[in-house]
Amino acid sequence: MRLVMKFGGTSLSEAERMIRSAEIVNSYAKNNELVVVCSAAGDVTDKLLEIVEKARRGRAEDVERIHAYLESLHRGLLEAVGDVRVREDVSVFADQLLRELRRAVSGILYLREVTPRSMDYVLSFGEKLSTRIFSGVLSSMGLKTYYLDGGEAGIVTDSSFGEATPLIEATKLNVRRRLVRLLDEGYTPVVTGFIAANEEGVVTTLGRGGSDYTATLLAYCIQADEVQLWTDVDGLMTSNPKIVPDSRVLEYVSYNEAIEMALFGAKGLHPRALEPAMMAKIPIRIKNTFNPSGRGTLVYERSERDDKEPVKAVLLVNSVAMLTVRGPSMVGRPGTAVRILDTLHKAGVNVMMISQSVSESSISLIIRREKMEKAVSAIEKALLGTGVVASVESEDDVAVVAVIGEGMKGTPGIASRVFGAVASKGVNVRMIAQGSSELNISFVVKEEQAVEAVRAVHAEYNLSGRR
Ligand code: ASP
Ligand code: MG
Repeated sequence: MRLVMKFGGTSLSEAERMIRSAEIVNSYAKNNELVVVCSAAGDVTDKLLEIVEKARRGRAEDVERIHAYLESLHRGLLEAVGDVRVREDVSVFADQLLRELRRAVSGILYLREVTPRSMDYVLSFGEKLSTRIFSGVLSSMGLKTYYLDGGEAGIVTDSSFGEATPLIEATKLNVRRRLVRLLDEGYTPVVTGFIAANEEGVVTTLGRGGSDYTATLLAYCIQADEVQLWTDVDGLMTSNPKIVPDSRVLEYVSYNEAIEMALFGAKGLHPRALEPAMMAKIPIRIKNTFNPSGRGTLVYERSERDDKEPVKAVLLVNSVAMLTVRGPSMVGRPGTAVRILDTLHKAGVNVMMISQSVSESSISLIIRREKMEKAVSAIEKALLGTGVVASVESEDDVAVVAVIGEGMKGTPGIASRVFGAVASKGVNVRMIAQGSSELNISFVVKEEQAVEAVRAVHAEYNLSGRR
């Protein structure tokens, strides 16, 4: 089999964890062709964001402190490289990266200015360091590895720094040429997640959590048989175990369900990562580095046995706000919703849910809570007094409950069971939206009642499988 194995930050955050992850790779190496993809170690990406922010504000001491932290963290990881000669090589490379990072950050510190382009350049050091070190750990264990950054592996993107989009066909040609040749020569390519390059070869990044995307993209390009995402949870779950203690790991999840779950914040998956796998029908297996014998979750096309369970997961999304835009003259007036959405889009506010009452006299929207003020003022500025919108109200003490499952499609009675269960706990539903895909029913409740609502639906559908 041809496998792409991606390791997340927690699987690489300490020398001992790197060794554990490398042993997992090694156990698959005998009978398979492997491509390995790495995230930055632990919280390194967060620290890089922080160092840039401190530099921009001229906080030299904080910059120094974070630098020291990053240096000692990566020096510690070098301990995982068993072979002394390999360790020597890797450590020379790591030192050079750390020096380049230092230079980039002093530039920002000096100018007090950071561009999206220089930001991506700084962020790229996390994956370069972890991946180069991990590749050393693997070669110490006897694998014939070949280190490449995302650009070297052939991933070409547009120039939207911070959240670049791969140019799929160009990427496919490049990646094939480079990785397939290496595989044919018996190498295990070890590739940085998250980072790529634009057509001029300037470093770009794929957005937070983007290493999953790197993995599925490479798998698509080289027609891999499976992508494995090694993380620190047992798989996708029926809910968040912190709020629903009897949440269960789902054995099979369809691509569409997984996209929906990722969008609603399920741990362990990047929403865009599903696309390439789905296009090429490559299964994604989510596995726990700290419990490798666990079955994990297999994300694939709809599987028959799942049809029996219409609801697969109930997720809670906190930190949202609800906007209600009213105006009697909205009735029968086409284009109002478009103008509201357009206004929010231009203000950089992403709309997570929208619902309009049948009377058309109001539209309710759910957005991220931290964008609430921005959204309200954007709507006030653009639309109040235009005769379209009479008022805009906001509430920040709400939460969204998302009920997800492909089997809900065409199954009657789901809504009544869901809302019956919620009502029986005395929880009031403020707003409802159902995607036309019928893959998800989302509703809004007061935040203090949200956990109760999630538990009620989880129990109604016996998602723990206990009954
Ligand atoms: N290191 C990047 C991040 O933390 C990418 C990733 O981990 O997937 O967002
Ligand atoms: Mg990470």
